[in-house]
Amino acid sequence: DKGRGAPRGVAWYDPDRDSSQKARLSMMSELRGGLKNGEVKFAYQPKLDLESGKITAVEALIRWISPSRGFVPPDDFIPMAERTGDIRHVTDWALRQAIMQAADWRARGLNLAVAVNLSTNDLMNQNLPAQILALLREHDLPAEFLKLEVTESAVMHDMARALDVLNMLSAMGLALSIDDYGTGYSSLSYIKKLPVGEIKIDKSFVLNLAKSDEDNILVRSTIELGHNLGLSVTAEGVEDEDSIGRLREYGCDVVQGYHIARPLPPAELEEFLKESEYGPA
Ligand code: C2E
Ligand code: MG
Ligand code: MG
Ligand code: MG
Repeated sequence: DKGRGAPRGVAWYDPDRDSSQKARLSMMSELRGGLKNGEVKFAYQPKLDLESGKITAVEALIRWISPSRGFVPPDDFIPMAERTGDIRHVTDWALRQAIMQAADWRARGLNLAVAVNLSTNDLMNQNLPAQILALLREHDLPAEFLKLEVTESAVMHDMARALDVLNMLSAMGLALSIDDYGTGYSSLSYIKKLPVGEIKIDKSFVLNLAKSDEDNILVRSTIELGHNLGLSVTAEGVEDEDSIGRLREYGCDVVQGYHIARPLPPAELEEFLKESEYGPA
């Protein structure tokens, strides 16, 4: 009986909507608290360079373990934080955390670049480059040790503004990647206009390489097109040896996925690198 008797254009009070809005707001306030009190950490997933057979970079993936909610997957709070504007706090935390970690590893002789995921809102923030520069200087970290991943949709949102920020970041010497490639609307010809050096083929195309002829065709042609545009190509979501073999055959540059390693806490990552044949020299 929605709208019964209501004046035109006036929304009815909806207790469900109200309580879910309240729930969202309280989740976001818990998240802000969690970013300050250590509930939020990074797990780091290795990126394996197929040519050298070495891991020279890791992707930082946020992990929130809330005392009241337990593990909250990023897909359950990142999109919400983007809508409420709280993503600003997430990004501030993420950049500082990643830069501190990369600087600490480097000081201990472990040269690993750390890739941080950015959101749409971040690319609208003209202060982001200066903020990153200040953090790199504070921790004495060369720019080559920080990489940034942005999705196509983030860039498409407001191309002119995003391009401004991306050009500044690129001029600072940061490596930029297009994440989840293939899930958006854009084409490689448009990506050519961006100062990015890498595309990451979305895991939805990679997960079924052992089974799906169609996915093999898509992945193979994406790698070829990427290379023709001078881009490095990473495949995410590599879960078995067979898929690595295919990706190698197709000339894929970097692979990432559970088959190589899951996202790991820093100490476990260091242990993994020590024991693995893939560990950096
Ligand atoms: P993403 O950046 O595309 O990250 C890849 C996702 O695939 C991660 O999920 C990772 O754990 C998962 N993954 C890696 N290897 C495999 C595999 O072999 N199989 C399968 N099935 N999955 C694999 P996660 O950690 O849940 O993160 C989800 C998304 O949340 C990320 O997608 C990214 O968009 C976002 N995110 C994570 N951390 C941050 C952050 O610090 N800031 C922002 N803005 N977004 C973040
Ligand atoms: Mg990513
Ligand atoms: Mg991705
Ligand atoms: Mg993703």
